[in-house]
Amino acid sequence: MKEASHSILAEPITVGLTRKCLACNKRFALEHLRTAEHPTLGHLKTYQCKHCGVTFNFATRLPDGAL
Ligand SMILES: [Zn+2]
Repeated sequence: MKEASHSILAEPITVGLTRKCLACNKRFALEHLRTAEHPTLGHLKTYQCKHCGVTFNFATRLPDGAL
């Protein structure tokens, strides 16, 4: 399983609406794998692209100054 180089991202609105993969840009490609609790980031949702296999971790909130 490949990991995206950027391990944690703010969740883009487009993920919920179109499930568009940030790596290959295919729509409706991302599948929700799991949601984990993170002490500072809130919920950490992991998605995997059905087409290219890249996984993305999206935080529901990011601490100030992140990224
Ligand atoms: Zn993809």
